[in-house]
Amino acid sequence: MNAEIIAVGSEMLTPERVDTNSLYLTGELNNLGVEVVAKCVVGDHRDRLAGAVRQALARSQIVILSGGLGPTEDDVTREAVAQALGRHLVFCPEIADALERRFAQAQRKMAEVNKRQAFIIEGADVLPNDRGTAPGQWLEESGSVAMLLPGPPHELKSMFERQCLPRLKCLAPQQAIRTVILRVAGMPESDLDQLISPVYKKYLNPVTTILAANGEIQVHLRARCATEAEAGALLAEVAAPIELLLGDRLYSRNGDALEVVVGHLLRDRRATVSVAESCTGGMLGERFTSVPGSSDYFVGGFIAYANAMKVELLGVPPKVLEQHGAVSKETAEAMAAGARRRTGSTYALAVTGVAGPDGGSESKPVGSVYIAIADDAGAHTEHRRFLGDRQRIRLFTVQMALDLLRRRIAYSRPA
Ligand code: ATP
Repeated sequence: MNAEIIAVGSEMLTPERVDTNSLYLTGELNNLGVEVVAKCVVGDHRDRLAGAVRQALARSQIVILSGGLGPTEDDVTREAVAQALGRHLVFCPEIADALERRFAQAQRKMAEVNKRQAFIIEGADVLPNDRGTAPGQWLEESGSVAMLLPGPPHELKSMFERQCLPRLKCLAPQQAIRTVILRVAGMPESDLDQLISPVYKKYLNPVTTILAANGEIQVHLRARCATEAEAGALLAEVAAPIELLLGDRLYSRNGDALEVVVGHLLRDRRATVSVAESCTGGMLGERFTSVPGSSDYFVGGFIAYANAMKVELLGVPPKVLEQHGAVSKETAEAMAAGARRRTGSTYALAVTGVAGPDGGSESKPVGSVYIAIADDAGAHTEHRRFLGDRQRIRLFTVQMALDLLRRRIAYSRPA
């Protein structure tokens, strides 16, 4: 079964508001095994909304509208759906009475305009609203169902959970949707796709999506089967060869972020880490400390931005800075060694680079980054040239530094 969601409201066509109701609804529908195949935002315009409703009902069995059920002229959902289905709106005195009682309880007199909320589309079931004034509606039309739900998220959730879910459970065939998220570091998206597409292209189910952002790639495998067990088995069958191809570039099979994975590795080995940051200005320390319990392994860090601070805080020899410059392998290694010496941590990570947009030179262009790792076996440095704006370069640098530590711990040698 397929579903579509239509969020109604001109405010969501401005930069100020986003449609979050559809995220909640998508999660709930997926749990029922229903795939959301399209969603859209339509402003408070009756004809445009009627057009969107007609189109959605023509291609999907479930259509959910949220918002536009209020009492004012710009709340057009009732009229638009009635128009789309060629049905009349019928005044429902019981709803008007209930609204009047609700206002009386709050010691207020109901405005005449509120009676608009007592109009029901011919043949619809009324969905009472226990959190607000706008009642919802449930309609069936040529084998499809349409739901009109209120816009405020707490009203929509309550109505959907109490009144729509039980009805949908009867309609939706027994189906399970399960997702596996593989997270990969240190690989461009196109290389990854080339590597794994011979595997996933053989399957229409699960559906494979590749998402890239901030120096990492996620591979989402989404299976639809009759039961949870079948979906699990199918995912295992497809994920296994992909995992084999990805090898040590795969850092998480359960969706865990890189800093979480590195934290587990450090904790398992009773090891600690410190950081010395120049161009990332604390972003690396932030990633470590965003994980609850990171005090078990993260001892602290230094933001040594100016050369004088690299000397003073980390003991980088002035000669190294003079001879090689602040953005160099030698400085990165001296920073890492200094952080390790000053904190006594098992590992130290250091980053120095040109984040731009200014400050690049021919030999050290914007995006040149040195990432060093030090432990009792010595220091190791990686040099990269990341492209993009300042923030992108810094995010990629942090991701790469975390991955360097992950590899060092997991693959170099036992603790
Ligand atoms: P009401 O009777 O409260 O007016 P309504 O069904 O007419 O109910 P709207 O007026 O369309 O709802 O929206 C009310 C508020 O609910 C909006 O200002 C917005 O804050 C929130 N809202 C509406 N639609 C969404 C959505 N899709 N996602 C998140 N919030 C929404």
